[in-house]
Amino acid sequence: MIKTKSPYIVVKQSSIHNKGVFARKDIPEGARIIEYVGEKITKKESERRADIPIQKSKKSIKHGAVYLFELNKKHDIDGNVAYNTARFINHTCEPNCETLLIRGHIWIVSITNIKKGAELSYNYGYSFDDYERHKCYCNKVSCVGYILNEIHWHKVQHKKRKSKNSTK
Ligand SMILES: [Zn+2]
Repeated sequence: MIKTKSPYIVVKQSSIHNKGVFARKDIPEGARIIEYVGEKITKKESERRADIPIQKSKKSIKHGAVYLFELNKKHDIDGNVAYNTARFINHTCEPNCETLLIRGHIWIVSITNIKKGAELSYNYGYSFDDYERHKCYCNKVSCVGYILNEIHWHKVQHKKRKSKNSTK
C-alpha cells in the first residue's frame, strides 16, 4: 500500500488492472482529489510518444497505457513518471471521477459521493481509432467492452447488436 500526499487516497492492487487508487475516506462530490502531474512536453513530442505504447499494445492483449494529457494548445503533460500517483487510476465504464483542467493544472475530481474503500476511476476518453485494441475489464453493468470515450459508445453498441442479429 502506497500512501500519498493526497489525504483522500491510497494505492493498492486492483481487480481491474494492476494497481489502483482507492478512497482512504469518504469523498464528497466535486472534491479535487489529486493533481495529475508529469513532464510538460510540446505537442510534437507528445505525438511521437503517443505512437510508442500503441506499437507495444499490438503484442500484449491488455490495454497499452497512455499517460498523455492535453494541457493547452501548445503543451501536453506526460504523466508516465514515478511521482505521478494519479497514473494508477484505472478506467471504468461507470467512473466516479473525471479529469478537469483548472487554471493550468489537471485535477482528478469526484463526480459523485465516493465511499471509503471504493476504487477511483475515470473514463480515459480514448478515440474510436483502433478501439478494439483497448479492451475494458472493468466488469461494470454498463461496460461497453472497450476503453472508449462515451461519445463513441453508440457505434460499438450498434455493432454488437448487428453481430447478434447475424448469428441467428
Ligand atoms: Zn468497461
